[in-house]
Parts: sequence; structure tokens; C-alpha cells
Amino acid sequence: MADRFFPNDMPGLVAETTDQTPSIDSLTCLLSLPYSILSAKFQDYAFNLKQSVVRETWGSGGKRVKDYSLYTGALGTAYLLFKAYQVTKDVNDLNLCSEIVKACDSASADSSKVTFICGRAGVCALGAVIAKHSHNERLFDYYLRQFKEIVIPRDSPYELLYGRAGYLWTCSFLNKHIGNNTIPTTHMRSVVDEVIAAGRQLGRKGRCPLMYEWHGKKYWGAAHGLTGIMHVLMDMDLKPDEVEDVKGTLRYMIKNRFPSGNYPSSEGSENDRLVHWCHGAPGVTLTLVKAAKVWGDKEFLQAAEDAGEVVWNRGLLKRVGICHGISGNTYIFLSLYRLTGNEEHLYRAKAFACFLLDRAQNLISEGKMHGGDRPYSLFEGLGGMAYTCLDMVDPQGAKFPGYQL
Ligand SMILES: [Zn+2]
Repeated sequence: MADRFFPNDMPGLVAETTDQTPSIDSLTCLLSLPYSILSAKFQDYAFNLKQSVVRETWGSGGKRVKDYSLYTGALGTAYLLFKAYQVTKDVNDLNLCSEIVKACDSASADSSKVTFICGRAGVCALGAVIAKHSHNERLFDYYLRQFKEIVIPRDSPYELLYGRAGYLWTCSFLNKHIGNNTIPTTHMRSVVDEVIAAGRQLGRKGRCPLMYEWHGKKYWGAAHGLTGIMHVLMDMDLKPDEVEDVKGTLRYMIKNRFPSGNYPSSEGSENDRLVHWCHGAPGVTLTLVKAAKVWGDKEFLQAAEDAGEVVWNRGLLKRVGICHGISGNTYIFLSLYRLTGNEEHLYRAKAFACFLLDRAQNLISEGKMHGGDRPYSLFEGLGGMAYTCLDMVDPQGAKFPGYQL
């Protein structure tokens, strides 16, 4: 299979990147390794990278937290350490994770942000899960109580990064990692009611049943728009008419995607440029994979495969991170592989991830790739790359951080 895509058909770096053709010999070598050996390489690489991330985002800053968020801040480093702990069961990772979450707790105490990725909910939820793994009951009770004290401001948006969908995702995260009903369905129901009601108000029956605005724009993507909100709603206990509205919204998006197969970043946009988790086909693929899994409908599976094809054909992004970089796009193929078992998707994930492992840091230091605005962060920088490499150790269990449960 390797020679079908590679080296001749390996997508190049996308236009906005370097025009050089990367040396592919070392990549070819990596890709032809037995998975057990490749997996060990990913693990070694991720562990070295993790040390740098911890040093740069925690140690060198005197262990003080300015940005506590999972997206660009210290909680992202904590989440990376939790992932490392899950791979190796090294309690040092768990303990350091706990220490960082504690600092995030202090730093976010007055925050009114209610989501997992950008808000205090993520701090409390990860804190509770870590405390459970550390068998620290007192701390577990503390974080869970702190989570339950979070009040969603009335003017909160509905999207994933800052809004109600991000709060609901955190509830699902807690129920998944701690146990069903840790956050009761009745509690989530009141928030779901608000999300559905707001979506119907802006949506149009028979066309796109649910629609939302963030900062005056009707976004479609995972971070701020329909894709992320539908993704979260599928984990909720929905009434039959609500299920139909979620399905109808996804169908509307599929029907109105660009002729290229990519998805607009917002309603009416004709700019077919972004192929990121936050905006464009990658985020949509993950949501369609979920729809195919939840409802078993062939139309969603087909649409997910189509969107994955766009991500492969558009090639390698200039950045390495989770949100709008090669790491995030690697998860598209991992997720299609988990859904379908089709080895072709695993091959594509390997191709992207091996490129990260083999080339990315050199290209960044040569100035040919962008190191990210927050270069060590989980969502924009090397933290995300380390996380992805840890997930490549066991692709069957890979989950896009903060999005897939
Ligand atoms: Zn992004």
C-alpha cells in the first residue's frame, strides 16, 4: 500500500508553506517500519518533546501560570502529562499534572469562562479526573464541588471554545472518566434546552434547523460553530425531534459544502481556503464520524470519508498544532481508521505523523514552517505534536484532545 501514496502521491506542504520538496527518503524508511518499532519511535520522540514542553511552559516560568487554558496555556501541558501517564503509567507524570492543575485552579478562580478548552470547567474536570487516578478523595471532592459551582453567564455564546457546548462537553468528559451520572442528565438537560431553543430561533425548518452566531457570524466550524455544537449534542440525551434537527443540520452542511468537498468556515462564505480542525473539513470529518457511529447512517459515513479525502488531498499544513496544524489533521485519519478499520486511513495518519516526527522541528528552525503563536502549547504548538505522537503509539485508542471522548 505504501507505494500507492508514497512517495509520489504524498501530498506536499500546502501552498502557504515552503515550496521545497522535503527529503522523503527518511520518511519512506519510517513508513515501512513494522508498527511495533514505529510505535516505540513515536513514544521516544513524544517523551523528549514532552520534557521540552514542560520545561518551557512550566519550569522556566517559575511554575507561575499566566494563561491557564487548555488551548494555549498550562492546562494543555497538564493534559499532555495525563496522556503520557495513560501511555506509561508513570506516576511522576500524574503528580506533575496534578501540580500544574492546582496552579491553574488558583489562576482561574475568578474566571467566568465555562468551557473545557478555554475555561475553568476544564481545570475543575481534569482536576477531578486526576484526583481520582491519584486516589485522593479530598481533592476529588474539591474539584467536583468547584465544577458544580460554575455558573454559566446568561450572555454566554453556544459554541465549543467559550460557550454552552464547551460546558456540556465537560459534563460528558466527567461522566466518561468518572462514571455515569457524575453530572446528572437533568442538569445537562437545562443547558441542552437553551442550546436547542437558541439554534431553532436562528435556524430554518426544512432548510438548516439549527443555527448559531458567535460575534455576529454564523460559523460552521468545530471551534466556534455548528460542527462543534452538533458534535456535543450527539452525546446528549436528545428527544426524537431534536435528533432530527441535529441530523437535518448536518445534512444541510453536507449539501452546501464547497464543490471541492471542503466546508465553509461560516454561512455564505465563498473562501475555500481553510482546512483546519477549527474551520473546514477536518473538524467536520470528526463530527460526521461521530454521526456515522451514533446513528449508523451510510450518508454520514460517506460524507465523513469524502471530507477525509479533502484533508489528505490538500496536504500538509504549515503549522504543527492541534487546532490548525498537521497534528490536528492527523486525527482525521485516525478517527476514520477507528470507524472503518480501513488500513488506508491508518497509512495516511502515519504519513502525516511521520512527517511531524521526521521533519517538523527542522523545518520550524529553518523558518520554513510556523512554530505557532504559542510554540509549546497544546492547541497551537509542540505540545499538540507530542500529544499526537503519544496517540500514535496506539492508534486504536487515539482521541482528538478536548473533542473526542
Ligand atoms: Zn485553529
